[in-house]
Amino acid sequence: MNAKNLSERLRLVASFAKQGTVLADIGSDHAYLPCWLIQEGQISRAIAGEVVKGPFESAKRNVAKEGLTDNIVVRLANGLQAILPEDGVETVTIAGMGGSLIASILENDPERLTGVKRIIVQPNIHAMAIREWAVRHSWGIVNEAILKEDHKIYEILVLERGEQSYKSEQLLMGPILLQERSDVFQEKWIGELNEISRVINVLTQSAQSEEAKVKRKQLSDTKDLIERVLKS
Ligand code: SAM
Repeated sequence: MNAKNLSERLRLVASFAKQGTVLADIGSDHAYLPCWLIQEGQISRAIAGEVVKGPFESAKRNVAKEGLTDNIVVRLANGLQAILPEDGVETVTIAGMGGSLIASILENDPERLTGVKRIIVQPNIHAMAIREWAVRHSWGIVNEAILKEDHKIYEILVLERGEQSYKSEQLLMGPILLQERSDVFQEKWIGELNEISRVINVLTQSAQSEEAKVKRKQLSDTKDLIERVLKS
């Protein structure tokens, strides 16, 4: 993958970016996403934020190589601290991390989201943590997508401001994904069911502590919920 040949996963993330807005890509690694969006003419300015020195340097190098230093500012910063008020950022993307890490990035600096109208996230696992964050902070889920690339399944969530509440199955599996029930969605949740059953078996055989019992109960409840949804 490079800035000109973006992965299908990042292309789908990019497809939700609002035309013409200033975008901040947090955890920007090689800055492929903002480079691609600018080269495609979808946006004209972007911030690429990266907390680790190596990926930050590589993002800076790529932006220079693509001749985009006037369009993309690369900042070494933790999470949303890459966004400054004068940037006028309206779209934030955070892709390729765990859902809990993405939720904690969003949780840590709420004031940096003041002018932001749309957040596009692509959690590798545990998307529920982001949906729970969204409900707590009055963001609604306006779109979702799911795709399989290189044998991995990815979810993408698009959030905009607005109060919404969701049932537990919607928080776990995604309100829009649940409605669409694509083949990839079915495959993901059958895989999750198998994994949960495996962990329950391990806990049943090896761990008898109170903590293990609580964990087993939580997993059984989640398993029942998924089974109910897949059968309905
Ligand atoms: N967004 C790219 C993608 O989807 O292909 C890169 C994903 S890479 C697996 C995750 C990147 O996020 C790493 O470069 C990591 O250093 C960065 N990262 C993790 N936590 C971060 C934080 N709190 N603030 C900024 N960047 C972070």
